[in-house]
Amino acid sequence: MSNKIDSPALTDGFHLVIDALKLNGLDTIFGVVGIPVTDLARMAQAEGIRYIGFRHEQSAGNAAAIAGYLTQKPGICLTVSAPGFLNGMVALANATTNGFPMIQISGSSDRAIVDLQQGDYEELDQLNAAKPYAKAAFRVNRPQDIGIGVARAIRSAVSGRPGGVYLDLPADVLSAALEAGAAKHSLVRVIDPSPRQIPAPESVQRALELLASAQRPLIILGKGAAYAQADADIRAFIERSAIPFLPMSMAKGLLPDDHPQSVAAARSHALAQADVVMLIGARLNWLLGHGRSPQWSAAARFIQIDIAPAEMDSNRPIAAPIVGDIASSIASLLAALQPGRIKPASSWIDELTQRKQRNAQQMRARLAANPNPMDFYSALGAIARVLEQHPDVYLVNEGANTLDIARNVIDMRAPRRRLDCGTWGVMGIGMGYAIGAAVVSGKPVLAIEGDSAFGFSAMEIETICRYRLPVVVLVFNNGGVYRGDDINRGGGSDPAPTVLMAQAHYEKLIEAFGGAGYHAADPQTLARTAAAALASGKPALINCVIDPKAGTESGHIGNLNPPSTIARAN
Ligand code: ADP
Ligand code: MG
Repeated sequence: MSNKIDSPALTDGFHLVIDALKLNGLDTIFGVVGIPVTDLARMAQAEGIRYIGFRHEQSAGNAAAIAGYLTQKPGICLTVSAPGFLNGMVALANATTNGFPMIQISGSSDRAIVDLQQGDYEELDQLNAAKPYAKAAFRVNRPQDIGIGVARAIRSAVSGRPGGVYLDLPADVLSAALEAGAAKHSLVRVIDPSPRQIPAPESVQRALELLASAQRPLIILGKGAAYAQADADIRAFIERSAIPFLPMSMAKGLLPDDHPQSVAAARSHALAQADVVMLIGARLNWLLGHGRSPQWSAAARFIQIDIAPAEMDSNRPIAAPIVGDIASSIASLLAALQPGRIKPASSWIDELTQRKQRNAQQMRARLAANPNPMDFYSALGAIARVLEQHPDVYLVNEGANTLDIARNVIDMRAPRRRLDCGTWGVMGIGMGYAIGAAVVSGKPVLAIEGDSAFGFSAMEIETICRYRLPVVVLVFNNGGVYRGDDINRGGGSDPAPTVLMAQAHYEKLIEAFGGAGYHAADPQTLARTAAAALASGKPALINCVIDPKAGTESGHIGNLNPPSTIARAN
């Protein structure tokens, strides 16, 4: 820069974005560079922001989303215009669906050309494309508005129900110069970005009355409860009320899975028989059978704690809504809870305990079997034993059978350690979540991946190796989607639609980038290599050979697969 001697000090849009992020304590960017954001990443790194460069925007977005879930600060994802922006959109939509706070910042092309559709390089009306998939979407059209734009994005992402926010930054705004003093004044430090939302006292009383009337009460903990980081109070409320609880997938570990009040092993009985159900940060969506019979009793009455008022009655009437943030709501409940007022019937506890024991015994038998080749249970049983020694490890999990069975087999012992497909049941989150978790926690991550699920983000193995992250990937290689043994019903030589290469040596992928590759065909080798890989703190990938005949179609949600009414194809 060749300023004239007497000209004022200048800054530009790039630096303003960086300063705005730093002012708000946002110290990490997950992204993919290109026109027009390459210099933004370069300068951010120069200014002390950690930049993690990915191979595909969807993984960068997934890393940002899970970083947001783990830290309660919006994860930042940086994308280039049009195609890169769209690649990131799946992750942004997934973040919004799951209630994870993130901000996708994208460069965009010249608005004058885009709006007249004159065919610009990477032309797309990104702001409007983002709106249906984002909790909020903003465009900054003048450099002096960058501070406000970033502030609005932060507040939108983390306040109320968290979600994905889109922030559009046209190339000319990024490069525009601004007088440094005025620029500094345009920045905004967001005060109390997600303020407490204290529930109405009468809603708390109503809920306690309902719980006091219950014979067969049940608490469901969802990932909203995990997100809220009110772990000690939630545990105190559950223990003082003596109500059995059931964790949703990502709430596993909020109380340890081996807690005596957990009825995870008697899930279907607990749902069907409960008379009063308290939902804490969990939605009555498909994952809970929409709260309807036959999964639930038609006579059951519901209490729901949620920060989003419109969530109430979304699927079934809520007799006692508590609208507020979970930390404040649980604190209010605890303050108003009189000892002995809530008394689950002892017959209820006995019946659940019996079911638990019976189901646990069946599970033990499945885990003890040692078939050759391995099935999902014997492989996951081996991993479960390794993880018992490492309660702090972050567990990423995706796939169909690999997901459903791991959720049941692997106990969690610490909060927010299980990261999986979530509300959408989306595939492709694996390496993004693994990288995001490793970067923000500095702790080891174990990703248990179906072979098909892994394929969606497999190239990020290079990212894991480039940043030397302590991520161990287990590819559950059963040679296909669901199963690996389907046949071409037309009789041709092409493989069936669900078939992948069972003979693939996935471990060679990581060897290409200097990581450690292992091959495990039996539970002992799997346990040994997984333990060694975790202890090494270095990138590793284990190709786990699973029987192609072991899985079931669509895992545990085969009921959602529409059957053919005329079934010609066999
Ligand atoms: P799960 O899939 O584990 O059941 P969901 O994602 O369906 O969980 O539900 C999480 C719920 O938690 C959402 O309805 C969301 O509004 C709510 N939520 C998230 N964070 C908070 C919070 N801090 N306080 C209150 N409710 C929250
Ligand atoms: Mg598979």
